[in-house]
Amino acid sequence: MELTVTFKTLTPFWTGGVGGVSDRLYETGLLGSLRWWYEAIVRGLGGSACDPTEHACNFDEEKYRRSQATDRRQRLRDAGLCDACQVFGATGWRRRFRLEVVEDRTRVAWSPSSEMLNIRPPDRRRGWFLPPGRMGTFTLRFIGEEEALNMVAALLLFLEQWGTLGAKPQLGYGVFQLVDRPRIVERARLWMWEGMGDREPRPVLPDLREFGFFRLRFSPSRPNWWLNVPGLERVPAEPIRRLVVEHRAIPVTPALKNQWRFHLWKGRPSEEVYVFGSAEWRENGQQIRLRSKVAVTWAYPVGDEWEVRGFAWLPKSVPAQRVWRILTDPNGWKQAIPVSGILSAFPKGDWQVRSAVEIAKLLNETKGA
Ligand SMILES: [Zn+2]
Repeated sequence: MELTVTFKTLTPFWTGGVGGVSDRLYETGLLGSLRWWYEAIVRGLGGSACDPTEHACNFDEEKYRRSQATDRRQRLRDAGLCDACQVFGATGWRRRFRLEVVEDRTRVAWSPSSEMLNIRPPDRRRGWFLPPGRMGTFTLRFIGEEEALNMVAALLLFLEQWGTLGAKPQLGYGVFQLVDRPRIVERARLWMWEGMGDREPRPVLPDLREFGFFRLRFSPSRPNWWLNVPGLERVPAEPIRRLVVEHRAIPVTPALKNQWRFHLWKGRPSEEVYVFGSAEWRENGQQIRLRSKVAVTWAYPVGDEWEVRGFAWLPKSVPAQRVWRILTDPNGWKQAIPVSGILSAFPKGDWQVRSAVEIAKLLNETKGA
């Protein structure tokens, strides 16, 4: 079967590139993020998703034949496949769907295409560097088993609401709108998210039960409201003109992160780095890139309003309540984006790790949205 989906980008997409230039959309970059989200969902539903950097699943045909399980998922587990690899593939087991870019009408968001946009709030020396991702519309074709395509449709509807596609979500990349979404909704109705087991969250693997989501909606009173966002007044005129006039996407991510990390955070420096990320984290004597646990998008218009949204993965190893208070403090948002708006968050109020049942409910709600 086939499922054809057209996407409109709301913030730049980064799916890979050559020499720092995003020259086209790469299927591998899109698939990588679909898998990452599916793994977080599977774990959030209490199912099993291996850590592909640690050990990979391996399909054992002999064990599959010998399994007594009547349930297909359990039988594949018996054969050595975690719930994520059952759909996304592993050694000896093919991914349940293929993905092709059939039409790519995106282009680099500003020129020159090799130039990073440096956004430096007034109190920062270095600031943030944003690579020129791609914006526009594109069409993907998914080919595979019906059940897998139903799941993909449901996954895309969730990502449209709360997630991202491609790389660099921490910099606000990969937000999209589905064109012709009634067709996707119809397909997603055939898929039901439900509990997959009773596994507890593990400390190093993203698990939707430990995710928080937040969203700001606002109606600016002036068209050039973004001039008061710290750091944007220093951005060169040409890229910012393209972003404001052509793409209607305003990079507010650095101002928000600056506010949260350098103004509101009062915890230990080691915790700060673990929560907000570092390019120079040392682990077991090796220097690695530690990704921020907090992702927040750019601002983009939705109907008559503007929106900024994001998510945070707050595992037990971080002071989750403290971080959550900062991320959901309306005053912090107002310092970075001087507009009046309405901030909503899930979970509401205090931080709490949610149950698989609550995650299934959240996921199923986005199917009909
Ligand atoms: Zn696996």
